[in-house]
Amino acid sequence: MRQKIITNRVHNNKATAISPIATIERVKTPKPKKVVVRSSREDIINPYEERLLLANCNDLMDNIAVRFPLYLGLRLGEIQHCKLGWFEQREKLLSLPTRQICDCAKGSPCYECRKYRGGIWSPKTAAGIRVLLVPPTVEPYLLQIGNGLNCSRQCLEVRFRKIKRRAGLGYKSLYLHAISGTYATRLAESDISSISMMSLMGWDTLQSSEAYVKSSMHHAHAELARIQAS
Ligand SMILES: [Zn+2]
Repeated sequence: MRQKIITNRVHNNKATAISPIATIERVKTPKPKKVVVRSSREDIINPYEERLLLANCNDLMDNIAVRFPLYLGLRLGEIQHCKLGWFEQREKLLSLPTRQICDCAKGSPCYECRKYRGGIWSPKTAAGIRVLLVPPTVEPYLLQIGNGLNCSRQCLEVRFRKIKRRAGLGYKSLYLHAISGTYATRLAESDISSISMMSLMGWDTLQSSEAYVKSSMHHAHAELARIQAS
């Protein structure tokens, strides 16, 4: 509660005489609004929704927009800048580079690289420079990517929103980051360690891995099953 000093009051549109003694009135201070931060962990998709999204991919870019975050955990910027040159087909490994000249806007740097990065793209953090194992569900699409998608961030986001609507999931809070969050959740539900999960997702700290592991019911169910069986 703070106090406001009022020295001149007006009643019935007539100014009263200024009191030599200041009147003190209590004024309610509005409570600060609670800021709710929504995590992508809350917006992951289940296997049924995954099938719906995949069934509504119409072309190469649609498939990349869904499969790259869902089966590789790639971020939007990584998908946007991905090239066939990152892929070593014999070993099935995708190596994210430390830096590359951005030419993803029809041979010129994209808006973000031109404005903020001097025309050079690099993964968001040093931890983002990682090597990923490419599963069969991704490889045929990766082999067609050539020198990149030639697509802005906004273009990829719009693509994804259209796929979502066609899949009948327009009601759901679903965006590309939630799809890579789904991949992270699946890692958390496997027996993979938090450190390996951090490496695969390109996270700087263990905190993110642990948050996914904590929010996963898989480990709680496994523990309960062990107790019930004993
Ligand atoms: Zn760029």
